[in-house]
Amino acid sequence: MAHALKNLSVQVLKNNNVEAIGAAAARASHWWSQVQMGPPDVILGITEAYKRDTDSRKVNLGVGAYRDDNGQPFVLPSVKKAEEVLYGKGLNHEYAPIGGEASYTDAVAKLAFGDNSPVLAEKSNATVQTLSGTGALRLGFEFLVKHYGDKEVWMPNPTWGNHPQICNTLKINHKKYRYYDPKTCGLDFQGALEDINKIPDGSVILLHACAHNPTGVDPNKEQWKELSQLIKKKHLFPFFDMAYQGFATGDVNNDAFAIRQFVQDGHQVMLAQSFAKNMGLYGERAGALTICCGDEKTASIIMSQLKIMIRVMYSNPPLYGARIVQTILNDQQLKEHWLKDVKLMADRIITMRKELRKGVEGAGSKLPWQHITDQIGMFCFTGLKPEQVEKLTKEHHIYLTKDGRISVAGLCNKNVHYVAEAIHKVTA
Ligand code: PMP
Repeated sequence: MAHALKNLSVQVLKNNNVEAIGAAAARASHWWSQVQMGPPDVILGITEAYKRDTDSRKVNLGVGAYRDDNGQPFVLPSVKKAEEVLYGKGLNHEYAPIGGEASYTDAVAKLAFGDNSPVLAEKSNATVQTLSGTGALRLGFEFLVKHYGDKEVWMPNPTWGNHPQICNTLKINHKKYRYYDPKTCGLDFQGALEDINKIPDGSVILLHACAHNPTGVDPNKEQWKELSQLIKKKHLFPFFDMAYQGFATGDVNNDAFAIRQFVQDGHQVMLAQSFAKNMGLYGERAGALTICCGDEKTASIIMSQLKIMIRVMYSNPPLYGARIVQTILNDQQLKEHWLKDVKLMADRIITMRKELRKGVEGAGSKLPWQHITDQIGMFCFTGLKPEQVEKLTKEHHIYLTKDGRISVAGLCNKNVHYVAEAIHKVTA
């Protein structure tokens, strides 16, 4: 009897399973069978592989996030203080305005354009809070599609992977101008000038304001001035991406040089800003899009259109990160504290660049490594070939993107000499 019962229950279970599998199959094929598996995100794929590696020497130089000298995520002391201030205020959680709070947008525009910028004096800027830098780029490009028409976008070669992807999503025709010279691991300035000279009148030109990602190669001040003149002569529309203000040189004003120069030269720029890196607010999504409109009336018209676009995308932006940013920027003492924090991060990166170069040269490499210290910002384009990158990962447990880019912020005193020796071994 017990045996028969057991057999019966197994049969019921089996039948149920068959039914369940059948139902699952029917569900699976019904609506979504035409959807193809997408490729994994390159950077996240590297982090996953790093996590699976059990070797104690492993180093992750793939992800573009600042780490302290113990390899740990860093909450800026000034941000901690701002959080305490905010907590003490007992704020509510009502909706933010569609374009963000004015005390935020005014403060971030001031940081980018400078306290005495004519743009701010004329109130000719339309600035909205966005979902960090990516959200600003997406909104900016979408605005261009909607209101500027079927123009080409020209990007530096190479550029951050999300730039072409956003344009692909919006079906924007995008092309590249020469920027990086693999022979010198530096700027191909002549190549850039030649290519920009051939860009059709009225096109959009995308520029990294500072700390170019992925190469770490920026034009110097004289070169920016020349670029500004050429871009003006060619009647191109400059769209600046500034994800690293303060990270390049440790000085937020220095790093905003290009934008301010372009404004001074009479350009009406568009600007995507992010506080992910310079305030360590990666997950809080605090960013901004500014369109310089020429006069206050046009700015209010542009603002009305930006709000219409935001309203149907996500309605209004998140409060918390923006509250931290404005608390810091609108308080002189906190701002000074933050400027020191930014400098501390930038200086640690600069020290790691020096240590890495010294380490590779000290290991006996006869190859030129000056570009490690010439390049600036979070990333270094090492010049390593894909097969050398593969060796570095397989044999030395060091993770980086195939193009040879390393996040210098992932280096620390504990691992920099190990990485330097490994680089020498795979390049010798
Ligand atoms: N632009 C560039 C060039 C970047 O490197 C990044 C960050 N990786 C961003 C924009 C924006 O990042 P987020 O959306 O996190 O602010």
